[in-house]
Amino acid sequence: MNASSSTLEFPVSDPLSYTAPVASTCSSGLSAAPWTFDGGVHTYGPGASLLDIIPSAAPRQGELPDEYRRASASDLDLRIRAAKLALGERLVILGHFYQRDEVVQYADFVGDSFQLAQAAKTRPDAEAIVFCGVHFMAETADMLSRPDQSVILPNLAAGCSMADMADLDSVTECWEQLEELFGTEPDAEGRQPVLPVTYMNCSAALKAFCGEHGGVVCTSSNAATVLKWAFERGQRVLFFPDQHLGRNTAKAMGIPLEQMPMWDPRRPLGGSSAETLRNAKVLLWHGFCSVHKRFTVDQIRQARAQHPGVRVIVHPECPMDVVDAADESGSTDSIRKAIEGATEPTAFAIGTEVNLVQRLAAQNPRHTIFCLDPVICPCSTMYRIHPGYLAWVLEALERGEVLNRIAVPEATAANARIALERMLALKPPAQPATGAAL
Ligand code: SF4
Repeated sequence: MNASSSTLEFPVSDPLSYTAPVASTCSSGLSAAPWTFDGGVHTYGPGASLLDIIPSAAPRQGELPDEYRRASASDLDLRIRAAKLALGERLVILGHFYQRDEVVQYADFVGDSFQLAQAAKTRPDAEAIVFCGVHFMAETADMLSRPDQSVILPNLAAGCSMADMADLDSVTECWEQLEELFGTEPDAEGRQPVLPVTYMNCSAALKAFCGEHGGVVCTSSNAATVLKWAFERGQRVLFFPDQHLGRNTAKAMGIPLEQMPMWDPRRPLGGSSAETLRNAKVLLWHGFCSVHKRFTVDQIRQARAQHPGVRVIVHPECPMDVVDAADESGSTDSIRKAIEGATEPTAFAIGTEVNLVQRLAAQNPRHTIFCLDPVICPCSTMYRIHPGYLAWVLEALERGEVLNRIAVPEATAANARIALERMLALKPPAQPATGAAL
């Protein structure tokens, strides 16, 4: 592998000589080893709510061979570098912004999930795309890559608690109730009664559902553009799985809260009356990110008290009161751009995953950058991609064996691509981090 490999939005100019950033207020480590979660464990682990249970149908990781669990960090490092070198251009490694540095140091590209799926396309010679992120990201990369390329998720148990909060059965059941209530006929302006919009953080099956039903996918940087498109085609939007991104975006567009009822899949009509649903503009699925829901208005108050003049930027997956109390909100990429664009030394309190915050702090030493949550805020499922799993899949590739391949069935992928292409056709500009431009 070429050590000066091209990189994406967040360059790792020399991935093999990367140094881990200094510690911040919040630890990026978790107390248990990732293989603790292999096998039949049903919770997401530290950082997540105890009430968050991994769905029984979610992929499970079999036991990592002992030699990788017992290997020292330096041994794993040597083995990963050797495998990378041997595989050369046949391999591309993608690292999500929230991935731990022990893994990101081997990535050829670092970015958000969609940027990474697009980045993989720039490596046509790569037979294997190793995605150091979570399951839905690997699915998207598989759908956007060539059929002869294998997308590999080093640990199958690296899921996403938010994506797991909406599944095809419960969304289909919701859809049937809405069709019964509103019918299927468009209004005089040709708008269908309800139009589905899904956040990128969902299964391929739900992206396909949107493709099939006139809907679309959005990211945290284009959600407002996508919602505007959706309102031209639908009288209402069913937004899943993240209630907070949906609420924050619709609120910034001027939609009143009473026109955004929550859809609780465990209750008839999602827990609302038929009249409330008729008046609704956005039906918000009862989903959230276990990492971003931890940020609070109190943390912002404390940051302001301890760092007068601090600039508070949070991700739009944070609850509405947190977004309202912050100075700005925006996607991971726009947070990065806001920091890099600050010309004077500035204090930044950031409300997003700690691995990204610590990396930003290390890369921008002229600024004071810290995570709003002082206790624990890594993405516990992303954490499951440990160097041991990476070494395991890379050494298997060297032997010609593809482990942990993520392959979306073509029928699902075809419909999902429709929803993704509708989003791409909008060509939304990447927004700077501002309160009004979620
Ligand atoms: S940070 Fe939240 S939304 Fe992102 S992968 Fe982790 S659990 Fe999912």
